Amino acid sequence: MKFSELNINENIKKALQNKGFVKPSEVQEKVIPSALDGKDLVGKSKTGTGKTAAFAIPLIQKIIKGQSCSALIVVPTRELALQVKEEIASIAVGSSIKSMAVFGGQSINRQIELLRRRPEIIVGTPGRLLDLISRKILFFNKTKFLVLDEADKMFDMGFREDVSKIISFLPKERQSLVFSATMPEEILDLINRHLKHDRIVFDLSEDNAPVQQIKQFYLMVDNKKKFNALFDVLSNDDSKTLVFCRTKRTVDWIERQFLKRKIRVLAIHGDKKQNMRTRIIEEFKKSKDGILIATDVVARGIHVDDIGNVINFDFPQESETYLHRIGRTARQGRTGRAISFCSNLMEYDVLERIGTRNNTVIQQLQ
Ligand code: AMP
Repeated sequence: MKFSELNINENIKKALQNKGFVKPSEVQEKVIPSALDGKDLVGKSKTGTGKTAAFAIPLIQKIIKGQSCSALIVVPTRELALQVKEEIASIAVGSSIKSMAVFGGQSINRQIELLRRRPEIIVGTPGRLLDLISRKILFFNKTKFLVLDEADKMFDMGFREDVSKIISFLPKERQSLVFSATMPEEILDLINRHLKHDRIVFDLSEDNAPVQQIKQFYLMVDNKKKFNALFDVLSNDDSKTLVFCRTKRTVDWIERQFLKRKIRVLAIHGDKKQNMRTRIIEEFKKSKDGILIATDVVARGIHVDDIGNVINFDFPQESETYLHRIGRTARQGRTGRAISFCSNLMEYDVLERIGTRNNTVIQQLQ
């Protein structure tokens, strides 16, 4: 299918062309026609599937210019807020639809000032949105479109009540779209309570293509030898690499170990200021062979297409986390490699089970 077969306007088509989007992704093929049709939607889909453009294109097309806060997109993290806003801005470039991201960690006064431009689309994290609502800066009583992106992550991060509260400020007559990689009971409950009965549910999780395009490996390595193992792996490969750690302390420690060897790596975690985090991600994006060391929460919103390696320095606690982490590589049809360090047999067992469940083989790294 081509974008021209979808009922989207010339301004948007031109913007997509400029972005280098040749044809719609599977999620876009499914979501765009129903969303343009005004249907409520639930998309069980992974990240890296083009879901941002899948909801952004219909919103931009349907929004009437000049009606501020026409659409609200709620996301779990600051990084994702910025990423989604950027994607929207690049698609809306010829449509004169304004968008803005609001999130904690950045001066609220600056955001309040920018909101005077009366953007039609607001992308925000729950806490900052509620703050701006309670200050009577943002009003969503005329909002026509609501998107909850990475809903499961928002709930995992404890935003369940905040999300319900935000929804209570919106009119009942609206179009709602919910995207979530998993559908636990509490998300289904939210969907039942807040979406229309004739909603369309897309289960795109059966499409395991992204995971299967990733060459997955494990390496049995003693805890104390993990840094040396990481160093060896990276010395033999010059792809862009994302390394996941469990704690902020480990992230800082690894950065110091590399520095001792006169190698500069990028490191990011929740204790770093927002401006710095944004700068680090930008640098990582632009680099050809950068190494970024990160914790899970912060890495969640990183959408960089050309990551060749994902390394689980610390073993992920759950299979969802594993899939999410490794999904950072092999994006948009590229190939990629995931290497998980297992420091005991229990971790290896978990990994083997994840492999079996996802129909993929996780090989020992030679
Ligand atoms: P997402 O799943 O929304 O995070 O998108 C993942 C990446 O794919 C982003 O960098 C998008 O800009 C890119 N992308 C989305 N749709 C397409 C498309 N149809 N063709 C090429 N790239 C796309």
